[in-house]
Amino acid sequence: MVMTIRITPCGATKTVTGSCHLVEAKGLKVLIDCGMFQGAEEEKNYEPFPFEPRDIDYLILTHAHIDHCGRIPLLVKEGFRGKILCTRPTAQIARIMLLDSAKVMSETYRSRLKKAERLGEVVNPPLYEEMDVLDSFDFFSHPYLEYEKKYDLAPGFSFRLRDAGHILGSAFVELEIEGKRVIFSGDLGNKNKPIVRDPSPPSKARTVFIETTYGDRNHRSFKESKEEFEDAVLKTLYRGGNVLIPSYALERAQDILFVLREMYERDILPECQVFLDSPLAINATRIFLQNPDFFDRETYRIFRERDPFNFPYLKFTREVEESKKINDIKSGAIIIAGSGMLTGGRILHHLKHNLWREECSLIFVGFQPKGTLGRRIIEGAEKVRVLGEEIAVRAEVYTINGFSSHADQRELTEWLSHASPERTFLVHGEEEKMEVFADHIKSELGLRSYAPDFGEVIEV
Ligand SMILES: [Zn+2]
Repeated sequence: MVMTIRITPCGATKTVTGSCHLVEAKGLKVLIDCGMFQGAEEEKNYEPFPFEPRDIDYLILTHAHIDHCGRIPLLVKEGFRGKILCTRPTAQIARIMLLDSAKVMSETYRSRLKKAERLGEVVNPPLYEEMDVLDSFDFFSHPYLEYEKKYDLAPGFSFRLRDAGHILGSAFVELEIEGKRVIFSGDLGNKNKPIVRDPSPPSKARTVFIETTYGDRNHRSFKESKEEFEDAVLKTLYRGGNVLIPSYALERAQDILFVLREMYERDILPECQVFLDSPLAINATRIFLQNPDFFDRETYRIFRERDPFNFPYLKFTREVEESKKINDIKSGAIIIAGSGMLTGGRILHHLKHNLWREECSLIFVGFQPKGTLGRRIIEGAEKVRVLGEEIAVRAEVYTINGFSSHADQRELTEWLSHASPERTFLVHGEEEKMEVFADHIKSELGLRSYAPDFGEVIEV
């Protein structure tokens, strides 16, 4: 009898959110990731899973970003009783990310509800609550998984996690089913970044599912971006302004602390006050310090002597009152706060106090999607609405793209060349970018590829 492996993409098809794949083979049902749909895709979270959650035996989690782990509490709420397999940092970071996600959903629900009631509209309730997040942690498997080690799920069905170099603890998955190898890239990292190692080259494989977030472009190198960043910070401080850095709490915030600490140690950072103004980023930084085994060689070497993310000018502001006090500082403050896309969070208060002052600067180190406040500012808006008030954009605005945690076209292509698959499936990317990447790998590697649709069953 010919053994078949059935793979069904259940998210991140021709889009970048909701990552989830169902693998059926040898009588097992295994999920790779169970991410949340975000932004314009948000409504899809309310559609039922295209499988029965109680039938799933294992969930292999590649990393702790919400678009990869965000629906786990919902999966558990709807009957999942299998095992969740991942590295230790992934489990630890997923816990704080999911708790934060539950909190944000409940706050958003309360504020939308008031408006909707007045309009006679219906609002979706939060997907899950804090207790559902805590319940889901009963299913995370101990001991946590290690990179490179082979784990058996059933006779003839094993897998390995390998370092994806994307965020701390991130992995790509190599399944081995009756001698057939299927690889799921998860999200792949940008090379030469601090803290995390470069992605491992994959093994040769018959089938690869690869992310294509930046399949259409190449980033500027991290080294060049770091220089741009240093320049922007120093210029602002010397002309007597404040520096605002909207940042994701995870990885990006730690990258920035790492670079600022380097500037301090190289003695180029003038005396100033640096605020990590985000409880989530503060918690994430603590988890980083608990997992030095996952650092790259340079960060590990620093860690053995001192804290790679701390220096004398840095203050962690957890409480709202402490955060509000930062508003009184007119000069010499570097403020790192969320959200990274200015869609909410403490950064909005700092914008209100600094964006209209020409001596200040706003440094974007992350992608700003269409329709966000961040994008409007980058596109040159003269005035923007912040917390219900019109604010003039007079601060200097910088966009620095080499801090990205994602591999670019060149890196994705190089990674894929090691696997040299017979079948390549493009996932986790916008359709236009997938098309560019498909053409690129056809001409560079001679690989034909295919972008599957949601729910399409693929047999390998
Ligand atoms: Zn990710």
